[in-house]
Amino acid sequence: MGQIELKGIRKSFGGIDVIKGIDLQIDEGELVIFVGPSGCGKSTLLRLISGLVEASDGQILIDGDDVTGKPPAERELSMVFQSYALYPHKSVRENMGFALTVAGMPKAEITQKVDEAAATLKLEDYLDRKPKALSGGQRQRVAIGRAIVREPRAFLFDEPLSNLDAALRVEMRLEIARLHQKLGATMVYVTHDQVEAMTLADKIVVLQAGQIEQIGTPLDLYRHPGNLFVAQFIGSPK
Ligand code: ADP
Ligand code: MG
Repeated sequence: MGQIELKGIRKSFGGIDVIKGIDLQIDEGELVIFVGPSGCGKSTLLRLISGLVEASDGQILIDGDDVTGKPPAERELSMVFQSYALYPHKSVRENMGFALTVAGMPKAEITQKVDEAAATLKLEDYLDRKPKALSGGQRQRVAIGRAIVREPRAFLFDEPLSNLDAALRVEMRLEIARLHQKLGATMVYVTHDQVEAMTLADKIVVLQAGQIEQIGTPLDLYRHPGNLFVAQFIGSPK
């Protein structure tokens, strides 16, 4: 579960090519990070995978199913954004269970799934609170919890930590690493932060101007950057 394949993916907005032909395979259970400078197309690529943006050309396969052109709901992926987009008037429990409620899941089952996710994320004591009574880190946990209860084929994160202060960012980074280990789930994670990429990723995809510059493990990229752009971006001594 959670294998993602991109074949010749292109996207243009108003005649401007933003994603210029991406071929990529993400294996089941991998934590893959898209990294690159602002405007290089990281978020667009993630939205193409989620279905929030439709490709101009190419194919997207999830677990071998061609999902090209299918709406987000049919892709069974969960997206976590940097702005948490929580419902302010709903409790943490209601926020986390909302998608399941809408899907018509029996209440007892929702309660069980929310309790389980809350335990994983250390949110047990906050389930009755409203988002405004939570810290930034706790809100981000709720947003992740909302993704977990849906049991997606893969998690998509778009700069989930960029609204947090430095100390909290480190804490949440460890949290995400722990979560990845525990769930064994495929995670595709966008960041412009090299340190985040180097410490979290199984595999890093370095993007520049809508194209892949290099793919490799953090160590590969550090030791053998393919060009000066990658070397400078990763911070390796080339
Ligand atoms: P990143 O996440 O790497 O910062 P984005 O994927 O957000 O980059 O954007 C890549 C480029 O595509 C930018 O030049 C951006 O202005 C453009 N872009 C993204 N979304 C749209 C859109 N909906 N309409 C027009 N241009 C867009
Ligand atoms: Mg972005």
